[in-house]
Amino acid sequence: MKYVSTRGGVEAVEFSSVLLEGLARDGGLAMPAQMPKVNSETLESWRKLSYAELATEVLSLFITDIPKADLATLCARSYNTQAFNSPDIVPLKKLDEQIQIVGLSEGPTLAFKDMAMQFLGNIFEYVLAKQGRTLNILGATSGDTGSAAEYALRGKKGVKVFMLSPFGRMSEFQRAQMYSLQDDNIFNLSVKGVFDECQDIVKALGNDLAFKEQYHLGAVNSINFARISAQVVYYFWAWLRATQSSGETVSFTVPSGNFGNVLSGHIARQMGLPIRRLVVATNENNVLEEFFNTGIYRPRSPEQTYATSSPSMDISKASNFERFIYHFVGEDGTQVKALWQELADKGQFDLSARKAEFESQFGFVAGVSTHEDRLSTIKAEFERNGYLLDPHTADGVKVAREFVEEGIPMLVLETALPAKFTETIQEAIGQPAPVPEHLKGLKDLPQRVEIMDCDVEKVRAYMIKHI
Ligand SMILES: *Cc1c(COP(=O)(O)O)cnc(C)c1O
Repeated sequence: MKYVSTRGGVEAVEFSSVLLEGLARDGGLAMPAQMPKVNSETLESWRKLSYAELATEVLSLFITDIPKADLATLCARSYNTQAFNSPDIVPLKKLDEQIQIVGLSEGPTLAFKDMAMQFLGNIFEYVLAKQGRTLNILGATSGDTGSAAEYALRGKKGVKVFMLSPFGRMSEFQRAQMYSLQDDNIFNLSVKGVFDECQDIVKALGNDLAFKEQYHLGAVNSINFARISAQVVYYFWAWLRATQSSGETVSFTVPSGNFGNVLSGHIARQMGLPIRRLVVATNENNVLEEFFNTGIYRPRSPEQTYATSSPSMDISKASNFERFIYHFVGEDGTQVKALWQELADKGQFDLSARKAEFESQFGFVAGVSTHEDRLSTIKAEFERNGYLLDPHTADGVKVAREFVEEGIPMLVLETALPAKFTETIQEAIGQPAPVPEHLKGLKDLPQRVEIMDCDVEKVRAYMIKHI
């Protein structure tokens, strides 16, 4: 399997290069040159597999430059009960007769990002050792991605992680999670600024090509196709758990921000998994909902991006969206390039003439959930079904109810556990979210963090000293 750019401007490369490089050189995103297909016989033969075994099967369709036996080892090392708090890794939980919750948040940081990041940590270590290279990951986080990356890469050989977080802006739980790590290869920098300023420092250093090369800078952001491919696995897993035979279809609802999670669902569907609908649920930052309902893609400015009570979905533009558009225009890089040029010139592009195809060809529909919806959904589901939803998953359940169909299981992806966002839970039900037993002592552990002025040169100097 080779990978091409969504803008058509680079030679096809192997998975390992995609893994280490991130963005393609023409500014596009890496995509498989042809989509692997899975027929119903193969699908049926996968019913009895464990999560790690299924991951090996699915990932070996995307990763052909690593021997399958080695992939099996990497998957077994990533998906086990040491890292995940459920023997199923991804349990399916019944909310009521219509909706099931897909438990993607049993990993070390209680959010679905662990699903891909745990695998990424292991495959990074493997590929770096093979190539005799080292990598220094530089990133900025407002919470979920940074902690998932640190838990995945802690103690890994050949990798160091420098993670910038905004001073005084994370929850107590998030701080405890990240700053209590004592591994020598993890460096937490708490920057006296907001998230966007942390991100600007990362961009400034990443764009300094001489610095980037000399110090082997790398990234683990959500445009990395390795993350997308690892997320495809749980769509197959959930379908296999929710059905009895290959003729059955299910629908998925996905709380969405950067379009990474639901893009993996789209890929699973393109591979032949019987998915009826992919329901995109957004919060008040409804760039994606607007696109699927009007055909107009109109990213927002940072000033027009609201800080909501489902903060991990507060995005102004959806980085992974370009990968869907690439499929939508028939894998034609020239058209993708033209659309993104239009976006740069006019601030939007318009596919409204073909908007019926979003659903008829690709199964996409979309809805919005607001702060009020989130609170009332958390409260109602807690009272009715005794199930405590996190705010992001609550957005999903709210929108899922609008698209439930008789006889077709509706699976809502649980993107985080409520303990991570206990302030909103308190507001919704008048009591805090329970902390999982194994994390009860977390906030009392000693913390290790470097507080730093919001200054590129200070961060650069710190990195040089510690690499
Ligand atoms: C990252 C995240 C999302 C959004 O996922 P995308 O892949 O960016 O669409 C939703 N919920 C939670 C809790 C997250 O951490």
